[in-house]
Amino acid sequence: MIRKVKGTRDVLPPDSRLWVEVENTAHGVFDGFGYDEIRMPVMEPTELYVRSVGEDTDIVAKEMYTFADRKGRSLTLRPEGTAGVARSFIENGLGQRPQPLRLSYFGPMFRYEKMQRGRYRQFSQIGIELLGAATPAADVEVLLVLHSFLAELGFDDLVIVLNNLGDPEDRPIFIERLKGELGPSRAELCSDCQRRWDANPLRILDCKVPRCRELVADTTPVADVANEEARAHVEAVEKGLEELGVRVRRAPRLVRGLDYYLRTVFEVVSPALGEDTVICGGGRYDRLIADLGGAQVPGIGFAIGEDRLVEVLPDAFRSEVLGRPIVAVLPVGPEAATAGLSLSRRLALAGLKAPAEVTGRSLKAGLKWAGKIGARAVVILGASEIADGTAIVRDLEKGEQKVVPLDDVADYAHDLLATPIEA
Ligand code: ATP
Ligand code: MG
Repeated sequence: MIRKVKGTRDVLPPDSRLWVEVENTAHGVFDGFGYDEIRMPVMEPTELYVRSVGEDTDIVAKEMYTFADRKGRSLTLRPEGTAGVARSFIENGLGQRPQPLRLSYFGPMFRYEKMQRGRYRQFSQIGIELLGAATPAADVEVLLVLHSFLAELGFDDLVIVLNNLGDPEDRPIFIERLKGELGPSRAELCSDCQRRWDANPLRILDCKVPRCRELVADTTPVADVANEEARAHVEAVEKGLEELGVRVRRAPRLVRGLDYYLRTVFEVVSPALGEDTVICGGGRYDRLIADLGGAQVPGIGFAIGEDRLVEVLPDAFRSEVLGRPIVAVLPVGPEAATAGLSLSRRLALAGLKAPAEVTGRSLKAGLKWAGKIGARAVVILGASEIADGTAIVRDLEKGEQKVVPLDDVADYAHDLLATPIEA
């Protein structure tokens, strides 16, 4: 037996319905705010990620699926979406369109990681990017879209945490200060942090090792070193969110694993998964497009980990999606097969989930099949019903049935499925 690649997953029915409905909900909310989907390649030149995500990040240093194609070009399976959006923005001259540009994306990302719950080598992200707006209102909008989407799924326990990374000019000052404060206890930091000390000291703030956390807890928050303008920016973002009733919490040590972020950065954490399993990450990246050779175009966006999101979906959403009723169409006898499909088409186009029996089961075996697939009702079509232009609609819960004219079956079945099952 051939098995799937380690770290990849098969999303099987009925769980796949949750994914589809999460994506449909995202499309609905994002479209409403004016975001249109961009579909990008899943592989890009390796250089794109080296130059955007950053050479000294975990993603680029350890996690990329990089390979040479048959002509020896170095390609990488995308580990994230923002770099590809930036590349596409420049390449397609999207700066010529009315600004700001609002884009969403959906799809698989690839990172060579140690597999564990909520951490896969192929995982899916749902993200948006708002390009060409540098105002606090732009940040507020992106967080508002995020909040609206999560609320639409029925979440009420997720927490948005936010920090101010300042501008790139503030970074060396902050790092010097951080190293000054951590210097005396440098030897106590974990081996990863020893490496980060020179390569990417900001990431020391983000270390999960308890002793590192303790040491970092007393250092000056990065926001305190940010310039006046950056501070005013993030404070305005917080004020705007408060006015809109979007609750966010300051997380003074929050940094992100990608080098391109500045000023506003944020994450969404779930009490169900714990603070270390982040559902969503995002932030502002005003230099990214220029760094990749484009114009000075500011941007802000987020990426939600769909695998993790699906894992913690509220029960109400889950049961609504998984409990959507089925009506099975059961033609009896080979002469009824086509009529069965015709009725299945009619019901399907009327918005019902109405699979037909196509394997030639008898009435008895067909009813058993309908029960097994969880049908609430069965529409039976035999020779005499076809001759009469009717069908028998049987309520499997109540054990009652009724002869209904074919033209009325859709409405009748619709009402029947909508009636709650009595306890
Ligand atoms: P983590 O700290 O968990 O490694 P990250 O900071 O590397 O996350 P981002 O690059 O910000 O993650 O990606 C955005 C979101 O994508 C994450 O919040 C998470 O929900 C999801 N994600 C990232 N890596 C994985 C993975 N290997 N498997 C599943 N989901 C992931
Ligand atoms: Mg990671």
